[in-house]
Amino acid sequence: MLSNTLITVAIDGPSASGKSTVARKAARALNFNYVDSGAVYRGLTWKCLREGVDTEDAAAVTELVDRTRFEWFVEAGAVRFTLDGEDPGAQVRSVPVQEHVSDVAAVPEVRTRVVRFLRDTTRFGNLVMEGRDIGTVVFPDTPYKFYLDADPEERARRRHQEMLKSAASDTTVDKVFASLQRRDRKDSTRKTAPLQIALGAQVIDSTTMVAEEVANLVVKQVRGGLTEQ
Ligand code: C5P
Repeated sequence: MLSNTLITVAIDGPSASGKSTVARKAARALNFNYVDSGAVYRGLTWKCLREGVDTEDAAAVTELVDRTRFEWFVEAGAVRFTLDGEDPGAQVRSVPVQEHVSDVAAVPEVRTRVVRFLRDTTRFGNLVMEGRDIGTVVFPDTPYKFYLDADPEERARRRHQEMLKSAASDTTVDKVFASLQRRDRKDSTRKTAPLQIALGAQVIDSTTMVAEEVANLVVKQVRGGLTEQ
């Protein structure tokens, strides 16, 4: 790399737009760390559900977040975290977490704390971070901002395929479509840091593209930007 300054690549977009796969691939190609910011909101939601905290009770959720100890660790190029020493792992992808995460993520006090925690990942060096507000709130000054989108039907189809692979799921594409629509609506209409295209972000519609192509586009832009410096 030609630059000595810290580089943060922000990849935002709606649910199942391919952000995770693209961000992972781009991070690997650039030799940067990968950060999944949604996993933090999911982890907190998992903790709420396990402790019987009502995810629609903003004060109770904030109280849980305030007494939770967050710690980062790096494993195989990904920055991961523990909550009170526990790695929530794959449990953050469960259906109950999926259905409640947008409520937890809509609480302004939760967002303030998570944003602070996310910014702390820069101590591990250059990174590619995916989420909903990375280019708008977490790293608004980065010149490397991308907004990934795809047709809602295609996103539902992709997420359904993914679910069939990872669990003994009996869900249908229609159910996945409805769930994604619900989550997107909540994420785009909340008062604090709603999902929106960051100023200066490059919008990529991946409906007819494979993840490899999108990742190559991101890597090319970042490398191009670095050689210009
Ligand atoms: O990206 P993922 O689908 O795992 O995110 C789960 C949820 O976390 C989103 O639907 C959204 O409510 C929330 N989120 C957020 N801001 C981020 C990342 C995720 O509000 N930067």
